[in-house]
Amino acid sequence: MKRIVIVGGGSAGWMTASTLVKNFPQFKITLVESPNIPISGVGESTIAGINEWMALIGVEDKDFMKATDATYKLSIKFNNFHRKGEGFHYPFSYPYTADTTLGVNDWHIKKMVYPETPNSDYADSFYSIMALVNQNKFDKNLDKKIPYYQYGQSTAYHFDATKFGLWLRDNICLPAGLTHIKSEVKNINGSPEEGITSLELEDGTVLMGSLFIDCTGFRSLLLDKTMKEPFDSYSYMLPNNRAWATRIPYQDREKQMVPYTDSTALGNGWVWAIPLWSRMGTGYVYSDNHIKPEDALREFKMHLSTIYHDVDLEKLEYRDLKMRVGMHDRIWVKNCLAIGLSAGFIEPLESNGLYTVHKFLVELCRTLDRCSQDGEMERIAVSQYDKSIFNVTCKKLFKEFATFVAMHYALTRRKDTQYWKDCFEREYDPNTLDENLSMVYGFKNFGVDRMIAREFHLAGGFPCIASGMGYNAVDRIVQRTNTLFPGPGLDSLSEEDCKRIADKLERNPKRWAEATKNCLSHYEYLKNTIYRDSDE
Ligand code: FAD
Repeated sequence: MKRIVIVGGGSAGWMTASTLVKNFPQFKITLVESPNIPISGVGESTIAGINEWMALIGVEDKDFMKATDATYKLSIKFNNFHRKGEGFHYPFSYPYTADTTLGVNDWHIKKMVYPETPNSDYADSFYSIMALVNQNKFDKNLDKKIPYYQYGQSTAYHFDATKFGLWLRDNICLPAGLTHIKSEVKNINGSPEEGITSLELEDGTVLMGSLFIDCTGFRSLLLDKTMKEPFDSYSYMLPNNRAWATRIPYQDREKQMVPYTDSTALGNGWVWAIPLWSRMGTGYVYSDNHIKPEDALREFKMHLSTIYHDVDLEKLEYRDLKMRVGMHDRIWVKNCLAIGLSAGFIEPLESNGLYTVHKFLVELCRTLDRCSQDGEMERIAVSQYDKSIFNVTCKKLFKEFATFVAMHYALTRRKDTQYWKDCFEREYDPNTLDENLSMVYGFKNFGVDRMIAREFHLAGGFPCIASGMGYNAVDRIVQRTNTLFPGPGLDSLSEEDCKRIADKLERNPKRWAEATKNCLSHYEYLKNTIYRDSDE
């Protein structure tokens, strides 16, 4: 009654296993992985939510960073998404202040009075962490120097996902007594009505358990192929379904090792560039409904040739990866639970693959812990009610994130290729849009513009992406027609008032740049701390 069987040894499999062995030592855990079916191996960029999961398993930077080729990440940069030649950041952490005047975020007043202000200035004005990003520097102990910098909340990692899985296996799972079997699952006994009854392995072993966790990647052997749980495709809002990935040696390590993920839009998708300690990882995520794979590879190499001048691009190895974008209706059905690509995937523009893995694992722990408090410590006794709560929570989070990622395309002004024209003209299904908005904000029939304006006062992704994409949240019409709370609108501000507001905002980035000017470069910081004794 207490054996959990995990199928799959990618990052999802080993993250699931380490979470369970650390938090539920009373359960017997077995992980089976095929020695012949490769893991996806991409997934090098994380977001700050990973710290919550690191705390849950009790892991710190010094424990794993060196073994996984890791660097720090403070932000994601988006180039050419709004218009070609423009870029902006979405940094981690909280904005220092989102000052408002007459209900309008001050940055938009600045933009009104100085229209030439680049959209990238939004992040620079409010996020103190941008001082580090802009100077390619890093430090952990800045709490007293710049506001709202909190190590752990403001930082995430770039790492080698394959090495990360192996590190978890060798340092957490195996020492805790997990049973590790290297063999292929050849037959799965069970049905949607009765759940999974047993697994038959290539070596003849039969595995039984109370809970089977599907971490088989896009194959989704248990949840999709056996439990036949319907898959909710998000291709209507996220068209990218394929990627080319490669690794590139550094030419100038200190310059290239920036503390952020760089995402550059091309003609039919976008390219990630992720600096690890020993190399760069890069890949082109695109829609194969808009460009053939061989042409996408050509476009990718053309882009790389403009950046990596001294690299022989023909000698690199390029991996062709297909993506299944969307999520199963439920991810916990009977005694079968899916975590990772087998559950669902949102294309990786916001580094969200592993995010959903660790977010769902935290939810799983909460569920198991809650159930075990009811005198059921030794058994995996989860009611259907709890499974349903788990399913709804995960689905809500996932769809919210997918909607957020879709926004990066929906607000484009590009029309230079059919791909971007389609992004601009995509007809959003009104029901889905309404459902998504209500999922995100808890109420229906609220326009995107007002929702963004509302969130401008808060931290979060919507204001950053909307501002970067030139989406103006100043709703002058609402101001003029507000009979419920009549008051002066923006029109009542004099030019002098506006300039004063704009000038006040200008002071923030200068102050933060000054406070951080003596910090080490990101590379130097890593070299002096994490990689002190290693050869380069
Ligand atoms: P996989 O890595 O595919 O592992 C599947 C496992 O199942 C393997 O061990 C395999 O051997 C095993 N298996 C399959 N069939 C059987 C069988 N019959 N018997 C036994 N074992 C079996 N995430 C991020 O967080 N950040 C990113 O920047 C990011 N970028 C990405 C870019 C691309 C192009 C893609 C496709 C994904 C990206 N991801 C990213 C997602 C990330 O790669 C995955 O979330 C993560 O690697 C987890 O994968 P997984 O463990 O679910 O599946």
